[in-house]
Amino acid sequence: MDTIILDILKDISVKTDSKIVLVVLDGIGDLPNEKGLTPLESATTPNLDRLAVNSALGLMDPIYPGITPGSGPGHLGLFGYNPLRYWIGRGVLSALGIGLEMGPNDVAARGNFCTVDSSGKVVDRRAGRIPTELNAKLCEKISSAVQEIDGVKITVRPEEEHRFVLLLSGEGLGPHVSDTDPQKTGLLPLDPVALDESSKKTAEVVKKFIDIVKEVLKDEHPANMVLLRGFDKLPNIPSMREIYKLNPGAVASYPMYKGIARVVGMEVLKLEGHGELLEEKIALFEDNFDKYDYIFLHIKKTDSYGEDGNFESKVHQIEAFDAVLPRILDKKPDVLAITGDHSTPCVLKAHSWHPVPVLLSAPYLRYDPCERFTEKEALKGSLGRMYSMQLMPLMMAHAGKLKKYGA
Ligand code: ZN
Repeated sequence: MDTIILDILKDISVKTDSKIVLVVLDGIGDLPNEKGLTPLESATTPNLDRLAVNSALGLMDPIYPGITPGSGPGHLGLFGYNPLRYWIGRGVLSALGIGLEMGPNDVAARGNFCTVDSSGKVVDRRAGRIPTELNAKLCEKISSAVQEIDGVKITVRPEEEHRFVLLLSGEGLGPHVSDTDPQKTGLLPLDPVALDESSKKTAEVVKKFIDIVKEVLKDEHPANMVLLRGFDKLPNIPSMREIYKLNPGAVASYPMYKGIARVVGMEVLKLEGHGELLEEKIALFEDNFDKYDYIFLHIKKTDSYGEDGNFESKVHQIEAFDAVLPRILDKKPDVLAITGDHSTPCVLKAHSWHPVPVLLSAPYLRYDPCERFTEKEALKGSLGRMYSMQLMPLMMAHAGKLKKYGA
């Protein structure tokens, strides 16, 4: 069904001057606290409230009811792709996110520096979240010790904190290799295992790589070992340019979100500083608004605070967004959607399967009684309950970018 929809959308999409903005407050959906209020309900949000009165609201299932999404699939849905059909490995997202070029034969994995004890068992899967500067030094140390294994070029590059990317470039590399991360402390790192015939060489190269790294890091502390996961090749996803005739731009700071934006054909705008400052993101949005007809603006911290179980900071982050919302509205996008890629309830300190509130501000809306952008208000919204992947065609239609289907 979903490929048929994409084919139809490709046929009926037209290029126009209207502009679409998608704001993703990562992990925005939540559950009530002891006072019976979610962060969205607790926050003071005069600007969002005013916008909600004149918008259409609803709830979206990012993947399918009951399925807890990762941020990758969560975003694919928001960009109009069925996340059950298209899959982007974490390694690929990370590699693209830090700007590594990937060829069609390359395999990427995400790495963690970790701490192991004298028996080799993992005691900290994130090596105490070492600073990014130390990460960069360790990646350099590894890079100078190993550039090639069995004719396969090895690239190791730092991400944030304890995370890095391993990129393998060469012939005959299948992407199906198991993770070496045991996911729990007190266990030995797992061996990389080829999950099919075509990935045997990849697994062998990775095994040799790990043996070398173990030696290189043996006197380091706390980062004396690595864990690898999410091996994958570039997926074959039709770009948003091709399907929707859009010229899409992305304002995002975390590597994974930049990566997924690139995979679907967005141009990722460059943040000058570290980029987690809301102010810097909004300024970049303002400066580039005229250049694009679709802008994806990603705000990460709502999710981070959800994962930390930090209700109060999640509330503050929502209020900080509310304070800059008028600057987005001042640009007068024809269609503006505000939503999340999934829920991250503070009480669970993790992503969850709960549907996410969505707000659609656009011309030609029907009656909608919602007065605030909250989970509870969204229940009575005119958008009802839908899948995240249905938001994109709706935004396109409201922006006047979809022709009639059939005579
Ligand atoms: Zn997320």
